[in-house]
Amino acid sequence: MAFMYITLKVSPVVTEQGTSAYAFDLSQVSLTSGRFLENQQRTLTYLKWVDVNRLLYNFRANHKLSTNGAAKNGGWDAPDFPFRTHMQGHFLTAWAQCYATTGDTTCRDRAKSFVAELQKCQANNAAAGFSTGYLSGFPESDFSALEARTLSNGNVPYYAVHKTMAGLLDVWVHIGDTTARDVLLALAGWVNTRTGKLSTSQMQNLMGTEFGGMNEVLANIYHQTGDKKWLTAAQRFDHAAVFDPLASNQDKLNGLHANTQVPKWIGAAREFKATGTTRYRDIARNAWDITVKAHSYAIGGNSQAEHFHEPNGIASYLTTDTAEACNSYNMLKLTRELWTLNPSSTTYFDFYERTLMNHLLGQQNPADSHGHITYFTPLIPGGKRGVGPAWGGGTWSTDYDSFWCCQGTGIETNTKLMDSIYGYDNSTLFVNLFTPSVLKWTQRSVTITQTTTFPVSDTTTLKVEGVGDWAMNIRIPSWTSNAEISINGQKVTGVSTTPGSYARVSRTWTSGDVVTIRLPMSIRTIAANDKSGVAAVAFGPVVLSGNYGSSASVKRTSDSSLDFTASANGQNIKMGPFYDAQGFNYNVYWTMAS
Ligand SMILES: [Zn+2]
Repeated sequence: MAFMYITLKVSPVVTEQGTSAYAFDLSQVSLTSGRFLENQQRTLTYLKWVDVNRLLYNFRANHKLSTNGAAKNGGWDAPDFPFRTHMQGHFLTAWAQCYATTGDTTCRDRAKSFVAELQKCQANNAAAGFSTGYLSGFPESDFSALEARTLSNGNVPYYAVHKTMAGLLDVWVHIGDTTARDVLLALAGWVNTRTGKLSTSQMQNLMGTEFGGMNEVLANIYHQTGDKKWLTAAQRFDHAAVFDPLASNQDKLNGLHANTQVPKWIGAAREFKATGTTRYRDIARNAWDITVKAHSYAIGGNSQAEHFHEPNGIASYLTTDTAEACNSYNMLKLTRELWTLNPSSTTYFDFYERTLMNHLLGQQNPADSHGHITYFTPLIPGGKRGVGPAWGGGTWSTDYDSFWCCQGTGIETNTKLMDSIYGYDNSTLFVNLFTPSVLKWTQRSVTITQTTTFPVSDTTTLKVEGVGDWAMNIRIPSWTSNAEISINGQKVTGVSTTPGSYARVSRTWTSGDVVTIRLPMSIRTIAANDKSGVAAVAFGPVVLSGNYGSSASVKRTSDSSLDFTASANGQNIKMGPFYDAQGFNYNVYWTMAS
């Protein structure tokens, strides 16, 4: 298989403040085998198959253009669903990521032609009775009602507009499409004009309605263009009721709709990087710490019935509607932002690994060639993926009749699974995740090929091609012990491999050098914060699930797979990775025998 590396990325013009390490561009890392790649392939099949005219229906209808005979969608893109067209921005991002990572021209062409059609919608605003720059599948009058606090149809209009803006930005940045830039800046101009007329208290009141990551995307447009008016617009979306307690590290999350908040925190991180104002950094960091430590399940997900509850409420909330997938998608974005500010801490990628492997990887149905997903991941004893309450439709997502928020973030997640495996600074390569992949570290003319069946195997190898003096910082996860590193078969001595730190291997590298990392795994329990007798069971990074019962002993039955047996309620049961628990009833949290 040949790999293509695309260099059309449009770089931001503003230098980020406070950043001391960087993520690689999507075009620099390719997946080569394993579950990450399999998930990606299924999503790519769907992205290249879906009928683009159906996705344009609501935009065209709203902007008074012909819908060209296209069929209407159902679910959250039905013509009468209040925030219809929230989904299309996710498609734009996913197509852009598909092109950036694989060079697939079908994805590129779909993104570009979709954007061209959106431009026609925007150009017809005068005839449709909308203001210049407006672009949406629902009437502009919903924004008037939002501002007057009389909006009663269930719409979250800025939430939907945020998705469109984020998608247009990704098409501009990853594909280099200047039409996407023009449509984006016109829409952002509409936001700026509209919000610029409101008083501070009108803006703060308006933010009582979910608005996605408006501060994030506007800050990103500032980073991209250097035009300060976008930063000013971003800062109008600083939600004081949420930011103020977080700035002083108070956990006031109880009762809040969870996924409404996380994008605001990502925005705070982007605003810190734009301004250097440490209050933004503190808000983002404190939000992450509070959520990870006091509101997250063993699989890394948070929320029950879409809401945060009291701090450490875990065992009390093991239900069918736990762990909305969007929240984890957004928490991982926040994690990346924070890691670049503090790349010596492995806490960030310990969480990233935990959440990606145990929540989001298994959110996708491996039996579905279109990679459909589940909205919640039930943690109720005897739960089953794809069999949730009404939001989830009682099923997996479908081709045209779901279009839930989590389906949108799902197609994004599964087209950027490679984006956090590695990181870098001027002298260092960070190895953050263990998965088969090739990195083109073009900044140093070095190629890294990682080969592994991790987490089935506890060992990974990294082959270096290219020469030079630099350090490899290898994440030694907190779950391991007695980690070993060898180079060209020789055990490395004098390098600390303390769990929960980066092992730093500095040398003059030669083409063909092979680094072997062994991270021994063992059975461990992850107790619920609020009930020490209730715990999930993990083997190394992998949360295991099995049949309902109380667990006493867990034994691995094979070295070549992650199959286990356990004794529960006096019976032997089978256990395996939770990410493989699709199509049957499972148990994740157990009452532990004393
Ligand atoms: Zn969601």
